[in-house]
Amino acid sequence: MTRTWPEDWESRKRGDSCVFCVDLSDRSFYSGRISEALLERRAVATGHAAVVFRGRHVTDLGDLTAEELAQYWRDVQHVGRAISRAFAPCHVNYLLLGNLAPHLHVHVVPRYLDDPAPGMPLPWAPSPVPEDVFDRQFTQLRELSRDAQR
Ligand SMILES: [Zn+2]
Repeated sequence: MTRTWPEDWESRKRGDSCVFCVDLSDRSFYSGRISEALLERRAVATGHAAVVFRGRHVTDLGDLTAEELAQYWRDVQHVGRAISRAFAPCHVNYLLLGNLAPHLHVHVVPRYLDDPAPGMPLPWAPSPVPEDVFDRQFTQLRELSRDAQR
């Protein structure tokens, strides 16, 4: 076997230097009961966000208790609803990857009728969101997340 994953993968999985094991509340447009929702500054689609499990370093859904799992998915659903209200996508993809940052988070990726991969996952090619656009979207999502039905 020729190893293709990074040499520090096991260290990342343990949580060493984890980018999500920090206080994210000042970057979050929505603080759920056990998560923080971040709008991506490098997005694969307009409104691309990530819902990050909060409280401890967890790499996999299997690490959650049944109660945490249910609450986490409620938080993900809440964010998905806010994104749908904000951007009116034709569909929403929920991606649990963790291939770069192995701390439990779900990418919420709105899909649009004119996107480049109808019927397929979007290519993972995030591009920078202009600062003024980011600020406008962040404010909109923060307000809609506050108002959305839970
Ligand atoms: Zn972590």
